[in-house]
Amino acid sequence: MTSDLTLTGVTKSFADFTAVDDLDLTIPAGEFFALLGPSGCGKTTTLRMIAGLEEPTVGTIHLGDLDITHAKPYKRPVNTVFQNYALFPHLDIYENVAFGLRRRRIKDVKKQVDDALELVELGHLARRKPAQLSGGQQQRIALARAIVNRPDVLLLDEPLGALDLKLRRQMQLELKRIQTEVGLTFVHVTHDQEEAMTMADRVAVMNLGKIEQLGTPQELYETPRSTFVANFLGQSNLVEGTITASEADVVALDVQGRGVTIPGDRCMAVGGAGEPILLGVRPEKLKLYADGDPAAAGENVLPGGVVTDVSYLGVSTQYLVRMPWGQTLTVFVQNLVAGAGFAVGAGVEVGWQPVNSFGLRGDAT
Ligand code: ATP
Repeated sequence: MTSDLTLTGVTKSFADFTAVDDLDLTIPAGEFFALLGPSGCGKTTTLRMIAGLEEPTVGTIHLGDLDITHAKPYKRPVNTVFQNYALFPHLDIYENVAFGLRRRRIKDVKKQVDDALELVELGHLARRKPAQLSGGQQQRIALARAIVNRPDVLLLDEPLGALDLKLRRQMQLELKRIQTEVGLTFVHVTHDQEEAMTMADRVAVMNLGKIEQLGTPQELYETPRSTFVANFLGQSNLVEGTITASEADVVALDVQGRGVTIPGDRCMAVGGAGEPILLGVRPEKLKLYADGDPAAAGENVLPGGVVTDVSYLGVSTQYLVRMPWGQTLTVFVQNLVAGAGFAVGAGVEVGWQPVNSFGLRGDAT
């Protein structure tokens, strides 16, 4: 039976530098959780405190009712898989996986090692040495070696960072399958937003030692609460406007003389009439219409755009559209009909459904 992992008021300072700043976080047992953020945001330090490799300066870490804040790394039911797999080169794969069990004098080693190797689908390589395995296979063995110890929590520190893109994508799905099968809590550190979104049930986006926003991948992508999150997860078009009416269920705003609306629950603390607001729309949520096309009616529409660049990307085409106020919007249009689309220089209107937009405080940074 695994337990919830709870960090309460956790701060880590190095001399006068605060790497992790008053973090509160609960990760339910069995969740695949990702800590996502740019280099230096404090995600590895957070992971190292959970592992027991760093001690918090302030705050506590609990697993269920057990206070593990100051417990030695090997005394807590937590295992870590690092980017450099650190397999023992002189031991074969079987013995690498068996190592922790033998050290703890666990009985029935064979069955547990066989099960772990089967889980990562590498049972047939049990008698090879690590050097005879590919990078992806070595990473799966490192995973088997950690999982065989049945920790309550498995920590993954950029575990796929050393793999090439194709293998990384494949391993992302593998990791997700394995986590679902074993039901352990996984805490995964990464700076790769696609990786976090592909695998995790919930993601905490970190910035400057704090959690900027925590939610499911869909929540973070569809309703980011800050420009940092909007820009860190995918691309956003952020357009300045002024609020004309702010109700609970809908916020009306003026963008360069045009009225548009955003559903109230997609606006973050944006203030009242007369205040600035940032309208956010993801590139694939925008549609392009020829100037004056009546099909645009009924949507939010901003007219007067001119296509300045067209890039064919296979699945979609990327259009850059220069708006009358000088801003360039990015629009992804799915290539449903071969040969269709707009050319550079075409006059276009940019439209979108209100539910496909979000609002941020106009003075947000
Ligand atoms: P990366 O993706 O580059 O590993 P990160 O988000 O994991 O970044 P951390 O490794 O947690 O970031 O580091 C957060 C900050 O704390 C960084 O500015 C780093 O320089 C600083 N830091 C980490 N460990 C120490 C240490 N032992 N002494 C001093 N400063 C440290």
